Amino acid sequence: MSSGTLVYPILPDTAPAFDVELARKDFPILSRRMGGKPLVYLDSAATAQKPQAVIDAVSRFYAFNYASVHRGVYRLSEEATVAYEGVREKVAGFLNASSAQEVIFTRGTTDSINLVAQSYGRRFLRPGDEILLTWMEHHSNIVPWQLVAEQTGAVIRAVPITDIGELDLEQFEAMLSHRTRLVSLVHVSNALGTVNPVKQITGMAHSRGIPVVVDGAQSAPHLKVDVRDLDCDFYAFSGHKLYGPTGVGVLYGRASLLNTMPPYQGGGGMIQSVTFEGSSWAPPPARFEAGTPMISEVIGLGAALDYVSSVGRSAVVEWEHQLVNYATETLHEVPGLKLIGTAKDRAGVISFILQGVHPHDIATILDDEGIAIRGGHHCAQPIMDRFHVPGTARLSIALYNTYSEIDVAGLALHRVAKMFG
Ligand code: PMP
Repeated sequence: MSSGTLVYPILPDTAPAFDVELARKDFPILSRRMGGKPLVYLDSAATAQKPQAVIDAVSRFYAFNYASVHRGVYRLSEEATVAYEGVREKVAGFLNASSAQEVIFTRGTTDSINLVAQSYGRRFLRPGDEILLTWMEHHSNIVPWQLVAEQTGAVIRAVPITDIGELDLEQFEAMLSHRTRLVSLVHVSNALGTVNPVKQITGMAHSRGIPVVVDGAQSAPHLKVDVRDLDCDFYAFSGHKLYGPTGVGVLYGRASLLNTMPPYQGGGGMIQSVTFEGSSWAPPPARFEAGTPMISEVIGLGAALDYVSSVGRSAVVEWEHQLVNYATETLHEVPGLKLIGTAKDRAGVISFILQGVHPHDIATILDDEGIAIRGGHHCAQPIMDRFHVPGTARLSIALYNTYSEIDVAGLALHRVAKMFG
């Protein structure tokens, strides 16, 4: 590991064909064995594993480059500031935002959505105004709106979804009323894998002057996201699901909206001036980043974005698409297994139930074979209610997963089915 000035160029997406075995070598944890069996990590929708490049970037930053950002006049602080702000530029490139000023660093998707709810929502929502969500939202795109609804008298409505787990677009359009002030929806469902047609939705909402918030926690890692093409007004994602550190995420916000929004939290770094009579605010994004930020986590996020670019974002999207299709076919063969969510367009996630077996039991039995999958409601209880299940077992993939890992999981599920059949 060496010291040196931090330079974070944005790498072009020009990597050659994707080689999964080569990529797996970048993730030290994948060489672990669990109870003597190779680790098969199929829970990346919860959080993704970290490549050595990210671990090294954070470690190197702490070892040789660490200082507070924005306020120091000494070189070390200036270097750290350049590196931190460089990641803002990099995120803007990653999302194709118009400017880095539209990129706010937060603690993650949850924090980003709470920011929109407490800043934009609290300022602009009035009693009787409607916030339109969908039935497939994660709790972090429901509860922040409930909190702001309680504070403002606004009302939450939820768009139904079809039996295969797609958003009912006719219903969506019908539910856009003269009272709708905001639409907030998930891009890729963490419970079903459904990819929602965000561009179509922003089109419908914007034709009525309604802004759209997108929960991108599961789309940033699995799709090529272009906020200008999607034409969304806000887009939130978490670093830790994108091979980066925990404790850091992003809120993209359209500049014209961010400029109208009051601060979310008060403290150092977000002000222009402070007197006991009153304070004035810095322009965005600083207005929304009170206090010493998560500096090393932002550096780690930058390294994660570089890593994904170096592997090739398009290649990753394609590889994962093939894996999801293969896993879907493989799981189909398991007796008594029912997929929950079979939308035409899916990414990252395969959710299922197995007749007579609780999802937690499935996950526990697979753990004995070194296979990490998730069982439960996935912080999306309304969608579980919609499918009349207490929870599902969920297999979720990332760029480092392989066909043979899917085979291993498939065989284990055959054994579970036999055990309980
Ligand atoms: N939305 C979705 C769709 C998610 O999958 C998650 C994480 N499971 C979140 C929001 C919340 O993300 P975080 O916990 O990183 O804030």
